Amino acid sequence: MWKITQLLFIIADFIHQHNKQYLCENQIMKVEKSSQDLEGEVIYKGLCIHCGSCNAFCPHMSFAEESGEAYVVDECAETVGLCYNSCPRTFLPISEIELALFGQKRIDLATGIYKDIIQVKSKNKEEILQNLVEAAFDEGIVEHMVLGEQKSKKPPVAFPIVVDSAKDAKKYIPTSTIENAGPLITGIGQAYLDKKKNVGIIANPCHLQGLGKILASDFNTGANETVSLKIAYACSSGGMAGCRYCTDFSGEFSDVSYSPWGAPKGEALLIIRTDLGKKVVDAAIKKKLLEVTEKEPDLSEMKKFLNKKRKKNFRTLIGDTLISAEYLQLGLEELREILKE
Ligand code: SF4
Ligand code: SF4
Repeated sequence: MWKITQLLFIIADFIHQHNKQYLCENQIMKVEKSSQDLEGEVIYKGLCIHCGSCNAFCPHMSFAEESGEAYVVDECAETVGLCYNSCPRTFLPISEIELALFGQKRIDLATGIYKDIIQVKSKNKEEILQNLVEAAFDEGIVEHMVLGEQKSKKPPVAFPIVVDSAKDAKKYIPTSTIENAGPLITGIGQAYLDKKKNVGIIANPCHLQGLGKILASDFNTGANETVSLKIAYACSSGGMAGCRYCTDFSGEFSDVSYSPWGAPKGEALLIIRTDLGKKVVDAAIKKKLLEVTEKEPDLSEMKKFLNKKRKKNFRTLIGDTLISAEYLQLGLEELREILKE
């Protein structure tokens, strides 16, 4: 009897240790910093890209209506701030986020992890993004979508809106990433408070960097139970000052990225990164909402856009400004590789 009990304890301890190790390996380590540090290291340095990640699950941050700029509402007593740890511009451990979201690290440094890239057009002349959203609702992959409602074009400011049907989504489907510039990730927090599940989002790459950090962290935010499909709109610039330091063109932490860049007019490249991304694209094709025009498209034009942005902004990061590239945690060898011809 004693031996059986002891054996059970040993097995339980093994499972506990194993899980503990698994969690450590697949979640981002928290940093002991808070809102004051976020102000000093990101907002006052001009790195902020108004993504809303800091405020999604924390009431101590907010955004100016006219400019979309983030600010600290009141100082909190937290020493390990959710705001600081959610922000994609404080530190961005790309490999750790990839391990948590995709279970693997990237091979393609510039495009990120993907399963497939296809070129599509929309059969019924509707927007490709709209049709992806329609397929996602039809399949029950999403029950709600967080989208941007543009409040101002100059400066570009959009605030999140949560819609409950493909029909309601139609009005807010972005036609450029500038229309998305604003704290959209706060919409995920709002959906959580409203007890919504299966919440999708169309967002810019930077939004999904913040959301990726939240999903990969062990803060008990409820984000993992709330978020479903993440669609990225490939982005050269969102028109904000902080865009100068952005190195993600394609939306590396999405389920599927949409890039009209590098595809013929009226068509788009879809970078399918996850099973969920594949499920929604397959459904859209099956329902004849999308038509594949190239199964193995020529990626050279898209890579031109991608590399141009990355090279320019890496140079800004490590160039003659005082901004540091530390938040990306890249090694010098990796930077050399990115910057070489
Ligand atoms: S989380 Fe986004 S909005 Fe908040 S400080 Fe960081 S970059 Fe700005
Ligand atoms: S360039 Fe696009 S993805 Fe990058 S920070 Fe600006 S809006 Fe976000």
